[in-house]
Amino acid sequence: MKQALQSEVMYLKGVGPQRAALLAERGILTVEDLLDYLPFRYEDRIRFASIREIVPGNTYTLRAEVVSGGVVRFARSPNPIYHLMVRDPTGVLHCKFFHGGYLEGRFKAGQRIVLHGKADIDPYRPARLEMINPQYELLGDGAADSTEVGRIVPIYEAIGSIGSRTLRRVIYQALGNLPPGLHDPLPAALLERYRFPTRRDALIYVHFPPTTEGVETLNAFRSPAHQRLIFEEFFFYQLSLAMRRQQTQQATGIAFRVREEKIREALKRILPFKPTEAQKRVLAEIGADLERPVPMNRLLQGDVGSGKTIVAFEAATIAMENACQAALMAPTEILAVQHYLAARRVFARAGYHVELLISGLKPGEKRAARARVHSGVAQFVVGTHALIEEGVEFARLGLVIVDEQHRFGVLQRKQLIEKGSKGGTAPHVLVMTATPIPRTLSLTLYGDLDCSVIDELPPGRTPVATRWTTEAHLPGVREMLRREVALGRQAYIVYPVIEESKQELKAAIVEYERLSKEVFPALKLGLLHGRLRSEEKEEVMERFRRGEIQVLVSTTVIEVGVDVPNATVMVVEHAERFGLAQLHQLRGRIGRGAEKSHCILVAPKTLSPDANDPAWIRLETMVSTSDGFAIAEIDLKLRGPGEFFGTRQHGELGLHLANPLRDRELLELARREAFALVENPDAGAERRRLLDSLDPSWQRRYQLATVG
Ligand code: ADP
Ligand code: MG
Repeated sequence: MKQALQSEVMYLKGVGPQRAALLAERGILTVEDLLDYLPFRYEDRIRFASIREIVPGNTYTLRAEVVSGGVVRFARSPNPIYHLMVRDPTGVLHCKFFHGGYLEGRFKAGQRIVLHGKADIDPYRPARLEMINPQYELLGDGAADSTEVGRIVPIYEAIGSIGSRTLRRVIYQALGNLPPGLHDPLPAALLERYRFPTRRDALIYVHFPPTTEGVETLNAFRSPAHQRLIFEEFFFYQLSLAMRRQQTQQATGIAFRVREEKIREALKRILPFKPTEAQKRVLAEIGADLERPVPMNRLLQGDVGSGKTIVAFEAATIAMENACQAALMAPTEILAVQHYLAARRVFARAGYHVELLISGLKPGEKRAARARVHSGVAQFVVGTHALIEEGVEFARLGLVIVDEQHRFGVLQRKQLIEKGSKGGTAPHVLVMTATPIPRTLSLTLYGDLDCSVIDELPPGRTPVATRWTTEAHLPGVREMLRREVALGRQAYIVYPVIEESKQELKAAIVEYERLSKEVFPALKLGLLHGRLRSEEKEEVMERFRRGEIQVLVSTTVIEVGVDVPNATVMVVEHAERFGLAQLHQLRGRIGRGAEKSHCILVAPKTLSPDANDPAWIRLETMVSTSDGFAIAEIDLKLRGPGEFFGTRQHGELGLHLANPLRDRELLELARREAFALVENPDAGAERRRLLDSLDPSWQRRYQLATVG
C-alpha cells in the first residue's frame, strides 16, 4: 500500500529527468513528497468575471484571449515594463508587468489566458482598465481540461521553471494513481473522534476541492481536509516530543542535596545582590528538579536583562556543592568570555575553579583546559561549540546549561547532554532563552521541557527611551552621544554589515574610520565584528568593559547577552534592515544600570506611516513597547513561523502546512492526544502498533525512530 507513495516522481508522466532534478532540489523525491506540496491559494474558476462587470479597485479572475504584448521602455526608468492587452467578448483589459523584460516572446495573439489580480483605472489614461502585475496562466489547447477551468483550481508556487499549471497536472495524475486503501497513519480512534477525513480523501480534497467548498474556507486552510493534515503534522511532532520527554523521565538522574545548610551558605556567598522575587521563585523550581533522581529538563525564559545568568550560576553552585561539574554553553565567543569573567568574579570567594573552552584558545592552552575538564579539576566549564567537540570529556558532568538556546539546534543540546551521560546517569539540563516566545510556540519548540519564567526586572532600572529618526538628524543624535560620554557613560553604534557591499549599506569598518577621524576625533572608539580573531574580539570587549573604549562601533555580534551596565546609548543605523527580535536584543544591551538610557533607531530616509510596511511596523513597535512578549507576538505575525524559528530550528520541526500561530487550537488538541498516547499506561500497545505501521520516511521526518 505504501508503495504508491514511495515511488519516485520521475516516473510520473510529464516529469522527465530535468524536472525531477528541479523537484529534488526542493526535497521532492517521491510521490508522497509531491502530494505534500500543497497549493498556497485557490482560485474560483467555476464562473469567470467578464471585463465589462469590473469595478475598479476589486480583485477578479478573468478568462480572456491575448490580443498583443510587448516591452515598453521609458527614458526616465531603466526598467522595462511589459504591456499585455487581452480581451473577452465584453471588452478590453491592459496588463502591466514591471521589470517585465523576461516576458518578451511569451505570449501569442489568440492564446487563451486566465488572469487574477486587482483591476484599476489607468492613471494616465482614465478610459482604460488595467491590472498591475496580475497572476496569469495560459490555458492549454484541450478546451475542457478538467484541471484548469470549471472548478476551484489549486494555485501552486512555481518550482524553478515548473509552473503552477504543470504541477497541477502532475499532481492530478499522481492522485489518480492512489490506491483506494491508502495507509492512514493517524489512529482510527482519532479519525473517529474528530470526524477527520482519511489521509487519502484529505489529499484529494486539498489539491482538487469539490465545487461545493468555499474558496475563502480553502484559502484560510480551514477545510476539514486542511484541518486533518495540519492536525497530523502537529500530532506526530508532539508525539516525538512526548517520547523524548518520557525518555528523559525514565533516565536516571543524580539527586542533588539542595536544602542543606551548607548549600544555602554557598548560595548566599555567591550572590552579589538581592535576588528578585521572580529569581527566587525560579531557583526554587530548579532546586525541586535537582533534588529528584530524574534529570531536570527545564527552559528558563526571561526578557533581556531580567537576570537569568545569576540563576544559572546558582544552579551551578548546587551542582558543584554536590561534587559535580557544571557546563555553560553560549552561542558566541564574546558571550562565552563574558560569562567566564562573570563566573570568575562571582565564584572567586567560593573558590570554585572556572574554566574557559573556546576554539580561539592556543593549542597548548586548549589541551591543558581539556585535561582539567577531564580530570575534574575544572568545576564550572564555560564555552562555545568547542564544548561539544570530540575529545572533550568531563569527569562528572552533573548540570548542562545552554544560554540563548534559540541560537542552537536541538542536536547540539543533545550532544552536550551526551557528554554527561555516563555510567547510566544523565545530567540535569537548563536551557535559557532571551527571545520570549508566546506559549503556543514554546509548546512547539520546547514542548518536551518544563518551563520557568522570570517576569520581573531587577530593581533600579530606568526604562530605555527609544525613538526612531532619519539620517538627516544624525548630527543631533551624535551631539546627544557626546553629552552622554562626557558624563562618563559609554555608547554602541551598530551597523548592518562589516564591509561595504553592493547593497550600499553603511559598513562598520568604513564608518569606524570616518567616525574616528571626522565625527568623534576626541573620543576613544573601538571596532568589533565577527571577522576579528578571538583574541582581538576579547581585547576590544575587555577594553570596553573597563571603560577604555567609550564608543563601540559594532555589528550584531553584540546582539546577544553582552552586559556592560555603564553603556547608556545604543544607536542602530539602517535600523529598517533589522528584525524586531534583533532590535529588541540590541536595545537590551543598554538600560542595565541606574542611569537613563537612550536607544535611537536611524533609517536612511523617512518612512511614511504604512500598516503594510514591515519596516515601519518594526520601528513603531520598538518605540511603543519594551515588553519582550508583545514584541515577539508582533514579530511572529510579521515573519510567520518558518522565519521566526530560523531555518535551523524549522528544518527540525517537520512542519510544512501547520502554523502554530494560526492553528493554535489544533496544536493544543494534537498535543493532548499525543501526550495521552505516550503517558497513559494503557495506551502502550496502541502506541507500538502506531509506530510499527509508520513508514521509515515518516519516522525520520518527525524523529520518531531516534527517540523510539
Ligand atoms: P539576561 O537575563 O539578559 O541574561 P543578565 O543575567 O545579563 O540578564 O542580567 C542583567 C544585569 O542585571 C546584569 O548586570 C546583572 O548583574 C544584573 N542583575 C541581575 N539580577 C539582579 C538583581 N536581582 N539585582 C540587581 N541586579 C541584577
Ligand atoms: Mg543572558
